[in-house]
Amino acid sequence: MSQFDYDLFVIGAGSGGVRAARVAAGHGARVAIAEESRVGGTCVIRGCVPKKLLSYAAHFHEDFEDSRNYGWTVGEARFDWSTLIANKDKEIDRLNSIYKKLLSGSKVDLLESRAALTDPHTVEVAGKRVTAKQILVAVGGWPEQPQIPGIEHAITSNEAFHLPALPKEVAIVGGGYIAVEFAGIFNGLGAKVTQLYRGEQILRGFDDDVRNFLAVEMGKKGIAIRTKTEVARIEKSGARLTLHLNDGSRMTCDAVMYATGRRPKSDGIGLAEIGVAVKPDGAIIVDAGSRTSVPNIHAIGDCTNRVNLTPVAIREGHAYADTVFGNKPWQVDHRTIASAVFSHPPAGVVGLSEAEARKDGHELDIYKADFKPLKHTISGRDERTLMKLVVERTSQLVLGAHMVGMDAPEIIQAIAIAVKMGATKAQFDAAVAVHPTAAEEFVTMRTPA
Ligand code: FAD
Repeated sequence: MSQFDYDLFVIGAGSGGVRAARVAAGHGARVAIAEESRVGGTCVIRGCVPKKLLSYAAHFHEDFEDSRNYGWTVGEARFDWSTLIANKDKEIDRLNSIYKKLLSGSKVDLLESRAALTDPHTVEVAGKRVTAKQILVAVGGWPEQPQIPGIEHAITSNEAFHLPALPKEVAIVGGGYIAVEFAGIFNGLGAKVTQLYRGEQILRGFDDDVRNFLAVEMGKKGIAIRTKTEVARIEKSGARLTLHLNDGSRMTCDAVMYATGRRPKSDGIGLAEIGVAVKPDGAIIVDAGSRTSVPNIHAIGDCTNRVNLTPVAIREGHAYADTVFGNKPWQVDHRTIASAVFSHPPAGVVGLSEAEARKDGHELDIYKADFKPLKHTISGRDERTLMKLVVERTSQLVLGAHMVGMDAPEIIQAIAIAVKMGATKAQFDAAVAVHPTAAEEFVTMRTPA
């Protein structure tokens, strides 16, 4: 009989923790998992899934308009926020219960309580001490806000999913993908949106053409993007908020949402006390196999602040469980991970941006297409699509593929297979186009820009 209560104790039942727990249990480990909020974690409860549902809702507005020139007469379109939120909540409840069933079906013990470490093998949870041979920290992250006067009047993405009503005027602070996505959501649902960002352009880290192109497209839809702008303080008067900006001006709105970054939720769970090294930004330091500075403690997902995406957390959890409990060691390759921004219009990217490739010293051929999608020739909507390939001149390897426009996230997933395989431009071109599609541009761009 083992000296420990469990072979594995997982702290956090989000994307990564649930996958690791189930796979480890499948390998025969006795597993317990603690969750202080709701099983499913950020992605299912307050991230990817509810966000995408809201984004779908926001697209209908344009769909109704676009249908007119196609011969449709649509009656007066009205939007009801509480119907959307109730149906979204129902779907989240359904997913939450599926996740719980997956855990119980895998014979993982679920402890619905906050957990903290008291030594490298002991977790304090729900008023008792539980021991385990291995510990996996998968506690995710949490929105971070600057401590300016009046910040208590602001919301984050967490609260945006549960607002009692759709605000008429919204200010979104931040320039990352969450800020950009919520700007599109609120705008599409009918709110007047201003996005305030302290940097030069939204979506820092993305290809510059993607950033500039998307900013223009968002602007055409009515989103006011104000760059190089910071909020100094927020004042509330009745139901209205006044934002005092760093240029001395002010603006008023009904809600202000901060999407200014997320911090790993690693504070206050005993990590430093037992010798787990953590960076000042809260990221738990791990090696390529997700091992922390304490050998029997591993960490995965957003709390390690590597690539903060659900499929990455899931893969890290899977690799951990196979390696430690399945005698099948493997590591996650964090290079060339495709990602999407569910903005309006959306973006999809994989591989290097032009600037990153140049910084790495590559001589490049750049291919670009900027066109009006067929759908909008008749709809009359002034929306364009951008596609871009970053190609290494000598080897002709496609180092990066970037797209802004309808269906970009769906298209980039398939393109990512080719880029990950190390396809050359000639191999892209050898694929006969699927016509008429937007995606065909990825195989028909002939002349470098
Ligand atoms: P999480 O899913 O955050 O899970 C951590 C869990 O640990 C949580 O349930 C938390 O309650 C629990 N926990 C924390 N501390 C303790 C404790 N001490 N005791 C017990 N339980 C604890 N990613 C994508 O790939 N695509 C997207 O479109 C996308 N959209 C997003 C939109 C938003 C608004 C946000 C906020 C995130 C989005 N993400 C998206 C990121 C994605 O949600 C995360 O990368 C992913 O959830 C990370 O998984 P994780 O397992 O590391 O952590």
